[in-house]
Amino acid sequence: MSTSKFGQKVITFNGGVIDRVAPQRAEPGYIEGLAASDAARTICFANDRALIDVEANPPRAWRTVNGAIERKEPVKRMLLGLEPSGDPLFAQFVEHDEDGRPAGDVPSSVKAIDLRSLASQDLVSVEEFGMLAYARSMLNWHATHQFCAYCGGKTHMVEGGDRRKCEDCGREHFPRTDPVVIIVVYQGDRCLLGRSKNFVEGMYSALAGFMEPGETLEDAARREVLEEAGIHVGKVSYVMSQPWPFVSSLMMGLLGEALDDKIDIDPHELEDARWFSRDEAQSLLDGTHPDGLKAPNPFAIAHHLLLAYLQKT
Ligand SMILES: [Zn+2]
Repeated sequence: MSTSKFGQKVITFNGGVIDRVAPQRAEPGYIEGLAASDAARTICFANDRALIDVEANPPRAWRTVNGAIERKEPVKRMLLGLEPSGDPLFAQFVEHDEDGRPAGDVPSSVKAIDLRSLASQDLVSVEEFGMLAYARSMLNWHATHQFCAYCGGKTHMVEGGDRRKCEDCGREHFPRTDPVVIIVVYQGDRCLLGRSKNFVEGMYSALAGFMEPGETLEDAARREVLEEAGIHVGKVSYVMSQPWPFVSSLMMGLLGEALDDKIDIDPHELEDARWFSRDEAQSLLDGTHPDGLKAPNPFAIAHHLLLAYLQKT
């Protein structure tokens, strides 16, 4: 965990330093000029897995010369922007075998690693995580928006992949981010955490859910907690946010005060939910809970919301 120049915590998948060059993208020849530059490089994804040079010091996304590795159709190479050095950086999907190994001349130090594994090992710098989250979400958006939502016509990238345009009706389509509220609810010296069936054994986390149209952050969080755990929530406060590239969410982290305490879980959403004392919450983070229960890893925002709760109360 580091701190940004604005004094805020920078957590995994946050803190990208790529200049996305939005104002310049529309200039005639600008994208083509960057693509043709000797300094231009491309980072590659084999489906969900990023190609990482694990022997670089520190390990980082492998940057290949533009055009050196075969691109996987139908998503074109997109411009991420400029690195802090000023060098252009592109991203693309690549043709690959079952192990994620791309066809072509790739150094043996380059491995295909999914972002979750990368994060749990804390393998690359915070700046690289930010760049990879941006790239993965954008490439996935391009892959799943090949056709116009209005008329069904084919769409194509414009301005280096900043958006897509329909070839039939001319409408433009912009990358989307799906907002998710995630909240640690508390009542005095205890907090509410839950677990869903697909969590690793023993893990309890903050309750979370997608926002729905017409909701504020606060209303969405209150609705989710009531639906999932049967608890009414009063005052809600914002703590921090995290881009979550699985595939393109923005986690908005909150703390909320419970108005009652009788838990009534929705078994479709949760396997269990319970109150944890402050000491227990600390032991979840420390890995010392007597029943072997644990909190999410530090790369997940839930970990930091639990810390925020402990610091607040
Ligand atoms: Zn259209």
